[in-house]
Amino acid sequence: KKYLEECSQRKRLYNEVIELKGNIRVFCRCRPLKQDEVANGSTSIVDFESSQENELQIISSDSSRKQFKFDYVFKPEDNQEAVLVQTLPVVTSVLDGYNVCIFAYGQTGTGKTYTMEGTPENRGVNYRTLEELFRLSNERSSIMRYELFVSMLEVYNEKIRDLLVENSDEPAKKLEIKQSAEGTQEVPGLVEARVHGTDEVWGLLTLGGRARSVGSTNANELSSRSHCLLRVTVVGENLINGNKTKSHLWLVDLAGSERVGKILAEGDRLKESQFINKSLSALGDVISALASKTSHVPYRNSKLTHMLQSSLGGDCKTLMFVQISPNVADLGETLCSLNFASRVRGVEHGPARRQT
Ligand code: ADP
Repeated sequence: KKYLEECSQRKRLYNEVIELKGNIRVFCRCRPLKQDEVANGSTSIVDFESSQENELQIISSDSSRKQFKFDYVFKPEDNQEAVLVQTLPVVTSVLDGYNVCIFAYGQTGTGKTYTMEGTPENRGVNYRTLEELFRLSNERSSIMRYELFVSMLEVYNEKIRDLLVENSDEPAKKLEIKQSAEGTQEVPGLVEARVHGTDEVWGLLTLGGRARSVGSTNANELSSRSHCLLRVTVVGENLINGNKTKSHLWLVDLAGSERVGKILAEGDRLKESQFINKSLSALGDVISALASKTSHVPYRNSKLTHMLQSSLGGDCKTLMFVQISPNVADLGETLCSLNFASRVRGVEHGPARRQT
């Protein structure tokens, strides 16, 4: 009984915060300057010293400043644990039956994969979230029974491919989106692997990562040009009142947002970049429509947003990491990413505040 009271108290508090701040959060993460950038004499274009909390000041080449505000700003020295702490309240609500989507957006090389996947020594949001979901579900085991399933897929050139194929030497299976009788978007045939602990999860992520590169000549190149989605399905049963819940947590490493030069891009490369632009702007349109509460939300404009339709909007929670580089050479792309992020948040950036 005490537990149920705690749950409803937590839900009430959560809903009060949602009333105030909405269901959409945008976090900005700036990676450190790389060794070769420092060696080339590059200095950071992000002025954290004179930025207020959750604010970012960008110094342009003419020394003018632009200011951006987010729900949270991570500095280059903030580690993976610091990122998890801010992310946890959103991701753990999947155990309470909410659908959740987390995206990493930005130019290639800004740390999208570092934030989501991380490295074996410095694991990212995907692994750490699952670790927390297992811990919390054990903690609640006298009242709730949870089963966790993991799926992994990729959207490349508007085609969906299952990455959890049994034989990783085979090219990944192609999938389509179907509407279920209840009106939700499903991907029939997508492998859902039951997972009992983090060791199994790490194995699956490695398997999925390998399947991603089959059939491509340059794995890194391809991974920056496709969206990689990890879906965690949580099936819960309340052992006291028998209520059942099913919810999804989507963890999405998006394709690189950089514009490909018109002269360089031809043939396949041009097609790829058109598909990426189309799906990233479709995602921006959907989130900004949700943030501004307009009645029409254009989910159908890309495979990505169509597939995620049941997990975006309504009482679903959305979190976007906008990843940026502090290097002056990336200034143009950095401003594009920050403008995109401000637009999805439904707020335009304000005039620059001068350093005093
Ligand atoms: P993307 O997925 O956006 O292409 P990556 O995640 O591959 O970018 O990051 C590019 C490089 O920068 C990698 O070597 C990564 O380890 C490093 N990196 C990115 N973000 C950070 C960070 N916050 N701290 C330390 N290294 C980082």
